[in-house]
Amino acid sequence: MTTKKILVLAGDYLGLEVMVQARRVLDWLHQTGAAAFEFEEGLVGGASYDAHGTPLTDDTIKLAHAADAVLFGSIGGPKWDGVDYDLRPENGLLRLRKAMGLFANLRPAIVFDALAGASSLKSELVKGLDIMIVRELIGGVYFGEPRGIEELPGGGQRGYNTQAYATDEILRIAHVAFDLARKRDGRVCSVDKANVMESSVVWRDVTTALREESYTDVELSHMFVDNCAMQLVRTPKQFDVILTDNLFGDILSDLAAMLTGSLGMLPSASFGAVGDDGRQPSLYEPVHGSAPDIAGKNLGNPLAQILSTSMMLRYSFDMGKEADLVENAVEGVLSKHIRTGDIAADGVATVGTMQMGDAVLEEMITLAG
Ligand code: NAD
Repeated sequence: MTTKKILVLAGDYLGLEVMVQARRVLDWLHQTGAAAFEFEEGLVGGASYDAHGTPLTDDTIKLAHAADAVLFGSIGGPKWDGVDYDLRPENGLLRLRKAMGLFANLRPAIVFDALAGASSLKSELVKGLDIMIVRELIGGVYFGEPRGIEELPGGGQRGYNTQAYATDEILRIAHVAFDLARKRDGRVCSVDKANVMESSVVWRDVTTALREESYTDVELSHMFVDNCAMQLVRTPKQFDVILTDNLFGDILSDLAAMLTGSLGMLPSASFGAVGDDGRQPSLYEPVHGSAPDIAGKNLGNPLAQILSTSMMLRYSFDMGKEADLVENAVEGVLSKHIRTGDIAADGVATVGTMQMGDAVLEEMITLAG
C-alpha cells in the first residue's frame, strides 16, 4: 500500500471545525490499516494573512505541488473585512487554484433518501438523485480577452467580454467528464448554446469527435443550456454527468446544488492536468464558506467536508471501497435522523458538529464490522 500525502488547509472560522471531523475519518482509516496517509498542515486565507501578511505563501504552494491531494476547508470572514483586495483571504484560494492549474471542477448533486424532504422540489423528483456537474474552471468568458468597459462618445458606457474556447481546452475537460462517466452510469450530457454561439459549435464538434475516437462505450448527448436549466428542475434524475463550460457551469451547479436542500451537504473536487510524472493536481473542498455566523459554536454541519474527503479517496486515491464506506456511513446517520441544525428534521433534537462527527465514525465502525 503506497502512502498518500495529503496537504490539509483548514482555513478560517468554520473550516477549522469541520476539518477536525474530516481528519477523524481519515485518521480512523489510517489506524485500521485500510489506508496509509501522511499529513502536512498549512495556513491559508485569513490565518495565513495573520501569520505571514499574505493569504497564500510560496511555501504553501510548494507543499500543494508535493502533495497527492489537497484537502481544503473554507476561508474568509469579518476579521479581514478591512484588508486590501489583493490580500483578502478569498484570494488565497483563487491563487492556489491558478498555481495548481485546476481547470476541472466537479460538483456532485446527491440527494440522500432521508433528506429528500429538504429539497425545494417534490421529494419524488429528487429522491435518489445522483448527478455530477463537470465545469471548465479557468477558461471561457470569465477570462477571455478582449474585455473591458469603454466610454461611448455620445455618453454612457459599453461593457464587453469574450467567450472563447480552443480545441485543447475543450478536450481536457471533456476527457475528465468521459472518464468519470465510465466510473458511473456511462452517460455524458454536454451542455452548450450551439444554436447561437460559435464557441459552443466548436465545443459540440470537439466533444462529439472525442467520443467517437476514444469513448464509444459512453453515451453522449447534447443539450442547450436554457433547456438544461428547465430539465434540471423538471426531471433532474434524467442526468448522469453534465459537462459544461465555465459560465454555464457556474449557474447550473448552483441550481443543481439547491435541489439537494442544504449547503452543509455539498462537496466538490477540482483537478489539473496530469503531469509528465503521471500525477494529477487535485483539491477537495466543501461548497460552503466559512460561516462566521455559526463558527466556533459547535453548530456547523461537517458532512460537506467529510464528503469532500470521500471524493478524495475515490478520485485521487482510487479507494472506492473506503469512499463507499464513508458515504454509506453518512447515509446511515441521516436515516437515523441524526441532524445538525441546517438539515433539522421536524420534532427531532439537533446535534453539534462534534456529535455529527462521532455519529459518522460510529456508523463507519459498525458498517466495517
Ligand atoms: P457561507 O457559505 O459561509 O454561509 C452561508 C450560510 O450558510 C450561513 O448562514 C451559514 O451559517 C450557512 N452554512 C454554511 N456552511 C454551513 C455548514 N457547514 N453547516 C451549517 N450551516 C452552514 O457563505 P457567506 O456567509 O456568504 O460567506 C462567509 C465567508 O465565507 C465570506 O468571507 C466568504 O467570502 C467566504 N466564502 C469562502 C468560500 C471558500 O472558502 N471556498 C466559499 C464561499 C464563501
